[in-house]
Amino acid sequence: MGKIFTPTENDFGKTDAVVIGGGIVGTATAFWLSRAGWDVVVLEMRDGLSTLTTPASAECFRAQFAEPAMAALAIPSIEMFEHFDDVIGLPGYGISIKQQGYLFLTDDPKTVDDLKENVAQQHKLGVTDSEFLERDKILTRFPFLSPSVLAATFRQRDGWLSCHETTQGFAKGCDARFFINTKTTGIQMDQKGICGVETNRGILQTRAVVNAAGPFAAEIGRMVNVDLPLEPVRRQKVYIQTAVPIPENAPFTIDVNNNSYWRPEPGGVIAGWVDSDEPVSEPSEKVHTDWEFPALTLDKVKRLTPFFEEIEKTVRQPDMNTSAGYYMYTPDDQPLIGVVPEVPGFYVNCGYWAGVMLSPEAGKRISELVTGKLDPRDNPLRPTRFKEGLGKKGKTLMSH
Ligand SMILES: Cc1cc2nc3c(=O)[nH]c(=O)nc-3n(C[C@H](O)[C@H](O)[C@H](O)COP(=O)(O)OP(=O)(O)OC[C@H]3O[C@@H](n4cnc5c(N)ncnc54)[C@H](O)[C@@H]3O)c2cc1C
Repeated sequence: MGKIFTPTENDFGKTDAVVIGGGIVGTATAFWLSRAGWDVVVLEMRDGLSTLTTPASAECFRAQFAEPAMAALAIPSIEMFEHFDDVIGLPGYGISIKQQGYLFLTDDPKTVDDLKENVAQQHKLGVTDSEFLERDKILTRFPFLSPSVLAATFRQRDGWLSCHETTQGFAKGCDARFFINTKTTGIQMDQKGICGVETNRGILQTRAVVNAAGPFAAEIGRMVNVDLPLEPVRRQKVYIQTAVPIPENAPFTIDVNNNSYWRPEPGGVIAGWVDSDEPVSEPSEKVHTDWEFPALTLDKVKRLTPFFEEIEKTVRQPDMNTSAGYYMYTPDDQPLIGVVPEVPGFYVNCGYWAGVMLSPEAGKRISELVTGKLDPRDNPLRPTRFKEGLGKKGKTLMSH
């Protein structure tokens, strides 16, 4: 069972690997490294695990990706979510998984073929249970949608879960030590590469560091003079409590024409949209939300889901809770996973805009790279791919 605590001087010493960041990505990384028999310390500057970007997420997962490398992370990750208690070795452990599907919708004739092609590509990548749906089928299955819909892609096994329970489960299911209230302030190097990590509470000696610092991953990179190609962009979401009846079994529903989304949540809905004009920003632990975000969101989601008009009419300000975090973009919008060759012992597992859903397999992948089980050339998400001329954007619908 992993131990989560604020360390004292005596807790510092030698360890096989240090993971910087106790979000879902760092915790999954620690889980797999610990399962491989390594002594692991996770450094988390905040007062708990999963308290920064991870809880800001909509907690959703999907296998509907167009890029081979993304599908290769998503498919096994979803399988692990489906049998999470088995994976972590704690029978009966629940992560509130709901497989109500992901529905990408369009009412624009110009995007119908894109959706069709996406499904064909998903099938090629092994996601054989995603479906391309036309208007009549969509309205039969989801009668609460607007008759203006034209086409959709849908996969029933996609859905959502509790990020908190998933992160805690990874921590409980391993023997790593999680140092909270412990900020990484520097990384030490000698002729062989990484040799230690400095924190506000003490120094750890180690030969392996995994940078899973989420929005602060570039800052950690600078500690070893590495410039990681990461762009943090603020993203918001809103929970709306409402007495308007919401179809409880509705899927995660996305309007691909205005990048808005919603899904049921007990007592109401979670909704949001991806603003393509939001600028790249300097990361901060205090991410502000915009006063008008809920109103703009309601205006967007009601286009294809008309019951939001009723919510818009009746909602009051105290019924809404807005939160925000960052999507971390890379030049090809896919994560950075692997060793940074200039600094032996320095690994990255960062650059996520969908880190919740990819974390189980990404954690396994980085652990296999650190322990030498996986050849770096067999990992297409290695951070050197851009220099090698390999990182290319795919056709995934990015809004979620
Ligand atoms: C509005 C919104 C909706 C989203 N919806 C989804 C979704 O539905 N599905 C999905 O898969 N993804 C979603 N995401 C993205 C997802 O939340 C992130 O990709 C994921 O949480 C990243 O996890 P992480 O562990 O890398 O980052 P974080 O959770 O931010 O964890 C990084 C940790 O590193 C710590 N840290 C940083 N610097 C230091 C330091 N110097 N010393 C010690 N600790 C440090 C931080 O305190 C933090 O706890 C969404 C994001 C947003 C903002």
